[in-house]
Amino acid sequence: MNRFTDRTAVVTGAAQGIGAATALRLAAEGARVAVLDRNAPDDTAEQIVAAGGDARAYVCDVTDRGSVRDVFARIATDLGGPHILVNNAGITRDDLFFRLSEDDWESVLSVNLTGVFHCTQAAQKYMVAQKYGKIVSLSSRSALGNRGQANYAAAKAGIQGLTATLAIELGAYNITVNAVAPGYIATAMTAATADRVGMSAADHQEAVAARTPLGRVGLPEEVASVIAFLASDDASYVSGQTLYVNGGAR
Ligand code: NDP
Repeated sequence: MNRFTDRTAVVTGAAQGIGAATALRLAAEGARVAVLDRNAPDDTAEQIVAAGGDARAYVCDVTDRGSVRDVFARIATDLGGPHILVNNAGITRDDLFFRLSEDDWESVLSVNLTGVFHCTQAAQKYMVAQKYGKIVSLSSRSALGNRGQANYAAAKAGIQGLTATLAIELGAYNITVNAVAPGYIATAMTAATADRVGMSAADHQEAVAARTPLGRVGLPEEVASVIAFLASDDASYVSGQTLYVNGGAR
């Protein structure tokens, strides 16, 4: 499939995990990919180029509004577009609500939600002008509520409201706006969660797999393929939706 020929895609937080898998997937289907991360996104870009694809790495902290604006201007000049934005950068700072610090509240809201505001506002300027855009943001199953994740759940539920609203405001410009809400995906983020609760990554995954209908945890590539669908013209009449990618868990 070459669904993204002549398209420029921007993927934030793409140095590893779901972001890296998404950048690789979009590139494999023909996109020119701007690989963004707050440090060293070069590995992902190099992997894409080594596989015959087109990618460029940009250092960009999504919480820094000025840097986001400047990086999007450089991407427009270097690669054209952007036609696709994947708001993937995210962090967790888990704690029970009664002792959740203001710092942990602020940092999670700042990266996971305000970062999406910054990047989407920067991207929409180009998308409106070209009357074409696909925006996909990472929500989470935790948006439905998850012990120890009041900050993260609030941010990821915020993504769903933002997505529904932007679909209404940007639809007139041929821009679709959707979210994916993964369940447990085996990445550095969930390995860190395992570590915090004193379990090995393998034991933690096994415990989650036991309560997941498909009987296993997810892989970054299994989220990337859903993001690629929503970012493609196969999903041309899908907007304002949040699609759960969670192995059937409720
Ligand atoms: P990872 O922690 O593996 O990767 C996240 C990437 O985002 C890292 O490279 C990280 O850099 C980068 N990042 C963090 N803060 C910023 C910032 N301010 N600006 C730019 N980049 C930043 O996470 P996952 O791949 O697991 O998760 C990707 C997305 O999917 C996140 O939004 C997450 O909330 C969401 N998600 C993940 C699930 C899972 O089970 N893994 C489930 C549901 C949703 P650094 O390493 O330097 O911090």
